[in-house]
Amino acid sequence: MVETKEFHKYGKTLLYNIYDDSAIQSISPDQIEFWRNAHKQHVKESRSKGAQKASETREIRRQKRDDVYTEVGEKFKLLSDINEMLGATYLLAFWTLWASRWAKEYQVKRAVSKTPHLQTDKTAYWYSLKKEAIGLLVTSPVGKLSFYEPPKPKVRASLCEFHREEWRDSSLSLGFGEFVEQQFEQLVRCNECEIDQMYFALYFLEIKSPLADGWTFSFHTPYSVGSQFLPDPAVLPRVFHTREQEGMFRFGRTLQDVEKIIYSERDVKRNLQGAMSNYLSVANSQELSN
Ligand SMILES: [Zn+2]
Repeated sequence: MVETKEFHKYGKTLLYNIYDDSAIQSISPDQIEFWRNAHKQHVKESRSKGAQKASETREIRRQKRDDVYTEVGEKFKLLSDINEMLGATYLLAFWTLWASRWAKEYQVKRAVSKTPHLQTDKTAYWYSLKKEAIGLLVTSPVGKLSFYEPPKPKVRASLCEFHREEWRDSSLSLGFGEFVEQQFEQLVRCNECEIDQMYFALYFLEIKSPLADGWTFSFHTPYSVGSQFLPDPAVLPRVFHTREQEGMFRFGRTLQDVEKIIYSERDVKRNLQGAMSNYLSVANSQELSN
């Protein structure tokens, strides 16, 4: 570099550098080689720093995962010391919760996916595992099963052509929901209309014990799924929720990134299966001792 000139632009004075061509041409090949090597060395160092950082992150994650599992293990040990069935139920509920989140994860992925069929198997797999676990949890003495049905006429309606026409004719004054509400009796009787009155109904299972220090779990199973293996709603207590609570009440959540590492699919699957067989063996031994 030979000189620095002032450069006026946008009312500001900027400095820029003038290079002397003859100086550039006079740089020796050795000098260039030296710079090249220095640059290579720099790249290599920052790469190995990156690798080191990644391995540190892995180490931190592994540590975090170990801490979580140790903490959780101690909690279940405490509960099992109070009562074996209590411990077995909570352990099962805990892993069912994570299975439920993996199911939700794949369900949401499938909903936005361009290749939804690839996600179907996984969604079905996790939901069937959850179903199996719920089937066990409802038999626990600390499991409380109830039924939720929204106030009528909250239904899922798909109208036949005839009734759709009828609604269109009236739609200047009536919204779809209003029309369904007003014509409800007629629509239910129609063979072509699909009126699902139970679409928003669900089974609500709560795992709760005064011995568990405020620790509770709640699981929701849609009526269409639960009716295959859970009791007739007629024999169950009703649970009521306000409209505001309904969203959170009805839908579980997906997983956060860090949770996907701590509660990996493999870990959740293995632990849930372990918790199910543990629950069964505790339940069977309790029956024997009764
Ligand atoms: Zn109809």
